[in-house]
Formats: sequence, structure tokens, C-alpha cells
Amino acid sequence: MTRAIVVDVLAREHGRRIVTVDVIGVGPRAVAGLLESLGVHADVYPFEAVARDPHVLRGYDVLFASAMSSDAPAAKKLAEMWARHGGGGPSVIGGPIASAPLDALNLGYDFVVHGEAEQVLPEALKRILNYEYDDLFEVRGLAFRYRGRVVFTGRPGYAPRERLAYLHSTDVTRYDAYWAARVYVEVVRGCSNWRRPRGVLPDGRACINCDLCVKAPLRSRLYCPAWIPPGCGYCSVPWLYGPARSRPLDLIVEEVKRLVDLGVRRIVLSAPDVLDYGRDLLVDPEPLTDPCNPPANIEALGELFARLYERVPELESREAYLMIENVKACLVDERVAKLLGEYLRGTPVHIGVETGSERHMWLLGRPVTKKDVERAVRLLSRHGLEPYVYFIYGLPWETPETVKETVEFMERLWRLGAVKVTAYRFRPLPGTAFQDFEPPRPGSPGYAIREKAEELNRREKRRWLGKLVDAIVAGWHPARRMLVAYPLPHGPVTLLRGPRSLIGWLVRLRVVGVASDRMLVGRLVSRLKRVAGKRREAKMLV
Ligand code: SF4
Repeated sequence: MTRAIVVDVLAREHGRRIVTVDVIGVGPRAVAGLLESLGVHADVYPFEAVARDPHVLRGYDVLFASAMSSDAPAAKKLAEMWARHGGGGPSVIGGPIASAPLDALNLGYDFVVHGEAEQVLPEALKRILNYEYDDLFEVRGLAFRYRGRVVFTGRPGYAPRERLAYLHSTDVTRYDAYWAARVYVEVVRGCSNWRRPRGVLPDGRACINCDLCVKAPLRSRLYCPAWIPPGCGYCSVPWLYGPARSRPLDLIVEEVKRLVDLGVRRIVLSAPDVLDYGRDLLVDPEPLTDPCNPPANIEALGELFARLYERVPELESREAYLMIENVKACLVDERVAKLLGEYLRGTPVHIGVETGSERHMWLLGRPVTKKDVERAVRLLSRHGLEPYVYFIYGLPWETPETVKETVEFMERLWRLGAVKVTAYRFRPLPGTAFQDFEPPRPGSPGYAIREKAEELNRREKRRWLGKLVDAIVAGWHPARRMLVAYPLPHGPVTLLRGPRSLIGWLVRLRVVGVASDRMLVGRLVSRLKRVAGKRREAKMLV
């Protein structure tokens, strides 16, 4: 049987993760599951495990790498390791980095899979394994070299829902401290926001205000007469991964069950908008390209949570925790907040806001209004959830006025109940409407948004002082020479003093200090129980 190694390079940038170190993402496990469904044995490795011991590559016939655009340096290192230590077979790269397929190919891979692997690998896999280039021209979504020339076979269509009906791999045990990590389980593929940015782009393309992407029948919204890519201008999800489609309920439940049986304690139901789950079925056979209508499918969401709690008793007994990733504010109403509060009390809900200016939101292609966001934060907070709100500074069309409005809006949301305010720096991504804009220069007005987020988060951290928290000790922080613990179900990374033998333990600690806008300091109160799996423990996680 052919043996594939699927390497998770996501967020490794130059080889080491700086942010979201406790996350195990969806992509590599989805590819491994797809390969298994096609009769190939697939093992999942995080990049750091391969970097520590590149000789593991020798045992495999084919390499699959999954990476984002910012991970190009690490992806290149992996290709070099494969050339030196690999089993001699082909190397393939995919994921968001493949939105620029020719750049990805230049990192040293034999093949690039552009878009959804489900649309490419079922037809191409055997030919890739045998280097049958002649037969690959007719498979869309591939880039490769042929007789000294670079070939891109064109964009594939989006996978129909039935093609997503296979079990994702649950091979997570090679990740450091997987028993403490947040493991993401895909519930929805793609995004329902097919609105588009309305300002003038650097190459001169400009919206002609036909309003097709806002008011036309759902299928017509797939096309824009001005050739502007769909979705918020900074995001590549709709263009690369298509309209929102739900994965089958049974497969989601089975995946969560298997992960929890392996010792995973924190599951995150992952989607660009979890509230799109089952909403696509309401408009079937049309594509779900409207971000706010119809409203959330409460019956489908309720069944998803009920089935998960029924099949995975550890969720009820709080030995494992369920969380969700993102929601769009326009879909949060009283019914939604009540349902989420019933099953997910005390867990975070992530809401993309990006700017505090109503006009700026519209220009960016955002589907929500400030009122939507305020209502969502208020309702979710009232029903016991922890709203985390997200902003981006340095975006196109940002002005001193939009920055001022944004800073004020951040303060307002914090007062309404947002418990964490995050500001990301704008990064132009290939394939997006904003790919040719410049990122912000240090000192530009938008940095006031970042400073405000830091200020609010420091204030928020002070709310934790004196609290008793249960947390998993997951690793060692070499710079601070302290242990690293993750509060359950989720909370700020907490540093504490103690022997390294505490790694792998669930402990109770008291929060005694604020280390930074991202980290707390705790004091050990008691050991509760050992939770680490049988495999090697984490070396370092922050
Ligand atoms: S972005 Fe495109 S589809 Fe939307 S209103 Fe403008 S021209 Fe029409």
C-alpha cells in the first residue's frame, strides 16, 4: 500500500509557530482522510516533528504539505528535507499557499493542488504517484513542471457537498501536547459572504454598483461583472473554497468521538461561520452565497449539539470541552444565543468586526453593521458565552476618521461584554481583492487600533486576578523559565512556577498576576489529575 506523509506547515512561517501554538487545524487531517478514502495509508506530522527528525520522511512514498502563504520559508525547508531524506517519490503542496500556484511550485514541490483537494486528488492521485504528466493536463487545479515549462491546469470548480462526505483523519498524536491543544473539526466548508469590496482596487478595477452580489438570486452572486473576487477584500476563503457547505452530521460526530477517545480535551467546531451549518440545506440546490439570509438553521444546529453530547459523554461530564470558532454577527439572534448558551456556556465565540466605521465595513465587503455586532455581543454575553471580537488595522481605505471610530467601537464592545479584543495587522493575500495593496507602515494611524486592543486586553486580564482556574500544564516557556498552562475550557495562557513533572497534569491554580496583554501568572493550588497521553510530552509551547 502506498504510504503518504501529510505535514502540517500551517502557521509555522519560518519553522516555528509564534501565534496559536495550541491549535491543531483542519487541513492536513482532511487531506489525510481523503487519501485514506482513496486507498492510501496517510500519517499526519506537524512540521516541528519532521524538522526534529527528518529521517522519518524516508518511510514514505509521497509527501503532502499543507501551508499558508506566510509559511513559504518553512514549506521550502520541508521540500529540501524531502529531497534529502524522503522516499524518492513526488512532493505535493496545497492549502491557502496554493492560491498563488506558481509561487508555491517554486518552493521546490513537484505538484501544487489549488483549491479544494476533493476536486483534484480523486482524479489525479494515481497519475501523480506515477508521474504520468501527460494525463494530468485534463485535471483542473494542478500546477507542475512539464518539459521545462510550468503548467497550471486552471481553477477547479467547488466540491459538491457529497464530495465532502468522508471521514477526516484523527491522527493527532504526533503533535506536542495534543491532549491540551484545541483541535479543530470542520463543520462547514467555504463562506457564505459573496458580497465584494466596493472601492477602487490598485489595478483600476472598480465596483459598478450593480448590486448583483447583494440582491441577485443566490447563483448569480457567484459572478461579478467587474471581476472582483468574492467576500471581504482581505480574505481568500470564498474564492478558494467556495460557498458554504455543511459536512455530514454523522461524520462530524464520529470524528469528535474518535478525538476524545484519543485523549483530546478541547474540540473547536470550525467554520468561517459555524452558524452557516445547515443553512445551505435551506436554500439547496442553490449555493449559499448570502451571509445573512435565511437566518440560522436552529433545528440543524440543535441536532448537531444534541448528537455530539449524546455520543460523547465526556462533554456532559466536562472531561472534554466543545467550543465553536467564528460566527457572523448578522446571524446571531435571541434563538441562536439561547441555543449556544445551552451547550457552550463559558466558552469563547469569535466575531469578526474588522472596523468600527459603517461606511468602511461596506467598502470592505463586510456583511454586517455595527448594530448587528452590538446585538451579537450583548446577546451572547447575556447567555453566558464569551464574545471575542476581531479587528484589522492598516486595511485599505482606512483613514484617521475610521481609526477613531474603530477605537471608540472597541471600547463600546468591551463595555457591552466582549471579553477579548484582538487586532491583526493587514496582510495582502494572493487571490484576494486586496492582494496589491500595501501592508501598513509602522507608525501609521491604524496602529492606534492595535494599541487600543492591547490596552483593553490588559484591562481584561486584570479581571482574572484572584480567580481559581482549572488548567492543563502543557509545556515549558524557555525565555520566562516557567510552566505554561491552558485554562479550561479556554482562557489566557497562564505561566506558573513548578517542577517540569507537572507537564501533562490538570491542575487548579489561582491567578496572581498579569504577565502581558496575552498572558497571566498563576500560583499552583493543587494537582487534579494526570491527563497527558502515553506519548512523549511537550517540549515547549509558547
Ligand atoms: S462588487 Fe461586483 S457584483 Fe457587487 S455590486 Fe459591485 S460590480 Fe456588482
